[in-house]
Amino acid sequence: MSKYQVDNRGYYGPFGGAYIPEMLYPNVEELQNQYLQIMKDPSFIAEFEQLLKDYVGRPSPLYHAQRLSKKYGAKIFLKREDLNHTGAHKINNTIGQILLAERLGKKRIIAETGAGQHGVATATVCALKGLECVVYMGEIDIQRQAPNVARMKMMGAKVVAAKSGSKTLKDATNEALRDWINNPVDTHYIIGSVVGPHPYPDMVARFQSIISKETRKQLLEKTGKGTPDIVMACVGGGSNAAGMFYHFLDDEDVKIIAVEAAGHGVESGETAATTALGKEGVLHGSRQILMQTEDGQVIEPYSISAGLDYPGIGPQHAWLFKSGRGQYVSATDDEAMQAGLRLTQLEGIIPAIESSHALAHLEKMNFKGDETVVICLSGRGDKDLDNYMKYFNL
Ligand SMILES: *Cc1c(COP(=O)(O)O)cnc(C)c1O
Repeated sequence: MSKYQVDNRGYYGPFGGAYIPEMLYPNVEELQNQYLQIMKDPSFIAEFEQLLKDYVGRPSPLYHAQRLSKKYGAKIFLKREDLNHTGAHKINNTIGQILLAERLGKKRIIAETGAGQHGVATATVCALKGLECVVYMGEIDIQRQAPNVARMKMMGAKVVAAKSGSKTLKDATNEALRDWINNPVDTHYIIGSVVGPHPYPDMVARFQSIISKETRKQLLEKTGKGTPDIVMACVGGGSNAAGMFYHFLDDEDVKIIAVEAAGHGVESGETAATTALGKEGVLHGSRQILMQTEDGQVIEPYSISAGLDYPGIGPQHAWLFKSGRGQYVSATDDEAMQAGLRLTQLEGIIPAIESSHALAHLEKMNFKGDETVVICLSGRGDKDLDNYMKYFNL
């Protein structure tokens, strides 16, 4: 068993576990007891793979970005999760979880969402399967993210405003948990990243691991070697990164680089650079690394990209960071926006601002010239056009 994967108690080193209120035990234990068995079932695997192929459009291409490679002096490949149906990697996980929910006999799906990307991915698979869908979203986020709210409603989901606290993601998460406690028998809660109580971080990482599984095969075809020198991805909660790293974790000669959002700068007070500033603690049901005050209050994160605006980092990432297996760095808003424009003009690909953070780190690398680098392009930039337009006065 890999020392970087979850152990049979639900931990990655000192991180992970299931720190939940007693009233959630039945729901979480049901998942813990069944998820591996269901995911190993041949009929589950067959349906998952078929939907990834025919509905999501997988395998996503591994694209050798020649002009980008020339600029930085390395052989750079982009794993094109931006070409998936709904425009990002999130659909890999929601497809997996909806199939699991069906096999657990659930009739109703709930989710929380911040910017709305996970809400849209969840509403999409509920429409696909004809299951009832309720998405909790902070009242302020509902106002800020009108197009995603419209998408969810058009697919038949009910969007419920969370009106307590700061009226954003953490309040929506609280509402979703309350709903799950009240509806333990018929409802499955789809969490959108590698966070939450065990088994969510492992389950979501397994669904996203298709990213590195395909990459190994594609790289072998293209270069004659299945492992790159470096893999890179951006990290909010950490699901696209977990998928990009998964099948390379035990190849210790593959360097792993995760890029967090520094916002206005690591020391600016407006940041989401969790590993640079965070300390160990419990958030959303697992032991991880999070930004907190002296007395343990969670600090509000900030990033120009809504998907990286998270005060913690999933338990597997906390362990990769602490064990030294992964290098955790950060990029500011400005660095990311410039990197997004650069990719657009060098390759004709407009990346999500989240993904632009991973691209931004290329500026700080010193390549010898023959390295093979794979970067996870987690999503497309259509959703971010307003932000790009404002930033560059387009
Ligand atoms: C949500 C999102 C992210 C951040 O989530 P992770 O769980 O860290 O992957 C990154 N990129 C895109 C395009 C997203 O939509």
